[in-house]
Amino acid sequence: MVIVNTCAVTKNAIAKDKRMIGKGKLENPNSKVILMGCWPNAYEEQVQKMKVDLVWGVGKFGDLLTYIQGLLGYCSSGKQKRVDYVFQDDRFRYFLKIQDGCEHFCSYCIIPYTKAKGKIQSRKEEDILKEARGAGYVGYKEIILSGIHLGLYGKDSNTNLVELLKKMIHISELGRIRLSSIEINEVSDELIKIISQSSKICNHLHIPLQSGSNKILKAMNRSYTADYYQKRVGEIRSIIPDIAVSTDIMVGFPGEDINAFLETYNLI
Ligand code: SF4
Repeated sequence: MVIVNTCAVTKNAIAKDKRMIGKGKLENPNSKVILMGCWPNAYEEQVQKMKVDLVWGVGKFGDLLTYIQGLLGYCSSGKQKRVDYVFQDDRFRYFLKIQDGCEHFCSYCIIPYTKAKGKIQSRKEEDILKEARGAGYVGYKEIILSGIHLGLYGKDSNTNLVELLKKMIHISELGRIRLSSIEINEVSDELIKIISQSSKICNHLHIPLQSGSNKILKAMNRSYTADYYQKRVGEIRSIIPDIAVSTDIMVGFPGEDINAFLETYNLI
């Protein structure tokens, strides 16, 4: 059974998806290849040309487990093995996805258009805590909380990222917790406070800037200005002076002239 969890966010990602499908069939000619993830949802017609046994797409993981158990000859009414954590390539860091979906529609991004990714779907707190405990117990030292739009975790279920962190920091099995990418206008005062107070949460925020030009940010449909970004990073640094701030920047966005480029350059 070869499960290829695809990504459609860039052309390179899709090329990798295709390579993995080819590799799966080549190395295991008798295997069944199942396609999961965004690619089938975003580009249905491309996927139809691929030699795969099942196109699953996004979501409904519980159903997929039942399907695989069926293929392997388990009876669905029999005892099902519960999966509390998943072994990952990196034996030190564990990527824990807590949320899916984005409702923002940045002009360069396909994610909100992929079926089932258009709405925020937050995982239940108890499931996340259980998975984190399991990963810590088997030896992962660092948990990286990830999601498509991490800062909106809990928007659909009356909770939020800070409330989740307040519970996670008490998990004794966990070494440290790192946040993956978060938008500048979702770095709340409460979030800064808990990062500054807990030694378990890494002093690191990855905050995408994308451009230092307000004209380009507007064309990208980003919901902040360059000034706000700079001011907020200053505020974060005034509370946590040694925080590491990393970012993503795009150059060559349509409409970016030399002045817009220099605005980004100078802001950095
Ligand atoms: S916020 Fe992120 S995931 Fe959402 S549309 Fe923009 S780039 Fe894509």
